[in-house]
Amino acid sequence: MSEEKIKELPGVGPATAEKLMDSGYKDLMAIAVESPRVLSDLADIGESTAGKIVQAAKDAADIGGFETGSELLEKRKDVGMLSTGADSFDDLLGGGIETGSITEFFGEFGSGKTQIAHQILVNAIRPEEDGGLGAEAMIIDTENSFRPGRISEIAEARDLDPEETLDDIHVGRAFNTHHQMLLADEALDLGKDKPIRLLVVDSLTSHFRAEYVGRGALAERQQTLNKHLHKLLNFADRNNAAIVVTNQVTANPDQFFGDATKPIGGHILGHTATFRVYLRKSKGDKRIARLVDSPNMPEGEAVFRVEESGITE
Ligand code: ATP
Ligand code: MG
Repeated sequence: MSEEKIKELPGVGPATAEKLMDSGYKDLMAIAVESPRVLSDLADIGESTAGKIVQAAKDAADIGGFETGSELLEKRKDVGMLSTGADSFDDLLGGGIETGSITEFFGEFGSGKTQIAHQILVNAIRPEEDGGLGAEAMIIDTENSFRPGRISEIAEARDLDPEETLDDIHVGRAFNTHHQMLLADEALDLGKDKPIRLLVVDSLTSHFRAEYVGRGALAERQQTLNKHLHKLLNFADRNNAAIVVTNQVTANPDQFFGDATKPIGGHILGHTATFRVYLRKSKGDKRIARLVDSPNMPEGEAVFRVEESGITE
């Protein structure tokens, strides 16, 4: 139905309509509020054509206007909360990891990013009353750090069937940025058939960092990353899914504007991730999570542990 409406836009032929749909634009509204440059990038069409399409979508779509706070509150009821496995960590995030948004975990090596990824993949498939999302989960693994054996270990520690758990976790191994972007497209496709409510990208930035080296490559890197993040947001929107991305911190201020405690990815990622959490190592298996950016929660810290059983209090 919405596809039909996209096809009816002046200047949009069947081929362009398909490109738009494939890029995640599912209705007129999504196009109407897009910037022509991003639309041109994502759907691979000329910028002036994109400008005309956006204008036409604006004319055709009911842009609506303002909603009351009560109406918005009603909509917020659809937001799912995914537990991290530790109560204090969940409290820090205002109840857990939200669906519909991107949550970023950044920190140095060994700070627990990949362990959290494994834990939430298991948690997501649990029923809502157990802190899960009652659905399937997906990970784009860029560093070859996903371990099915670790999933089994965490599942068993929570009295879940390891094989059933692994059956509900979809893993895509990305070999480079281009492949990573393609897997995001695949994810959108798979999300049409399967109830997937968690998409993890671990790590979001490692291939970008390796492939786009130096100042000269910065603009292109940010543009590509922006495109990728848009796809992920589309996935969140369509599937009411939580998007969780991990990110390293950079020690080289020349290369990726930032200091040792700044995540790489620059402003693009900073503005697109709704929740940003800085992880650091403490004594032994203790880790400290610091909420550095959230629309509704104060900055604060929580302590959790990385144990054989997974993430714990
Ligand atoms: P990187 O930036 O290198 O990807 P990371 O933040 O992803 O690092 P993790 O792999 O999540 O780091 O954390 C690794 C740490 O998790 C190990 O140093 C170890 O302390 C702990 N860990 C990993 N597996 C287990 C396990 N089976 N039992 C207990 N602790 C574990
Ligand atoms: Mg890791």
